[in-house]
Amino acid sequence: MDLISKPVAYAAAFLAVFASTNQAHANEPGESQQITPSGTQRTVGGSPDFFTGSVRVEPVWPADKNINASGGLVTFEPYARSAWHTHPAGQRLWVVSGVGLTQEWGKPIREIRAGDVVWCPPGVKHWHGASARAAMTHLAITGNVEGKNVTWMEKVTDDQYNAR
Ligand code: MN
Repeated sequence: MDLISKPVAYAAAFLAVFASTNQAHANEPGESQQITPSGTQRTVGGSPDFFTGSVRVEPVWPADKNINASGGLVTFEPYARSAWHTHPAGQRLWVVSGVGLTQEWGKPIREIRAGDVVWCPPGVKHWHGASARAAMTHLAITGNVEGKNVTWMEKVTDDQYNAR
């Protein structure tokens, strides 16, 4: 695949995942409680266009008309991190395990650990990922604006990642 079609393919893969789960969550009035069984939602690798290193993304729930924010469990192996990006409606990160790093553009890198909660305000350029020595898993709760929840930017260079 060339560089232009690859992001489209990844986007299509994500949409396919969320389209299949959206139906299960499209609750109508009077509809009953639903349980999405563990292990029934497809885990996808983080696209190399938007992540550095080994990253797994497990969809947990999609945004829907009731709660306009998706949940995703993201695991970064050591040194792995997202690219720089912004969220139009902001994002909360709950660190489930390990030791990670996060940074806002122009500010120092900060360490995050299991149990920490990070708020990324709308439009603020940032990245998040594992530390150099430990993997990190976080639940990312990301709001939507007109169906969009992220704007991807340039990758975090090794010099940027190691600058602390
Ligand atoms: Mn983010």
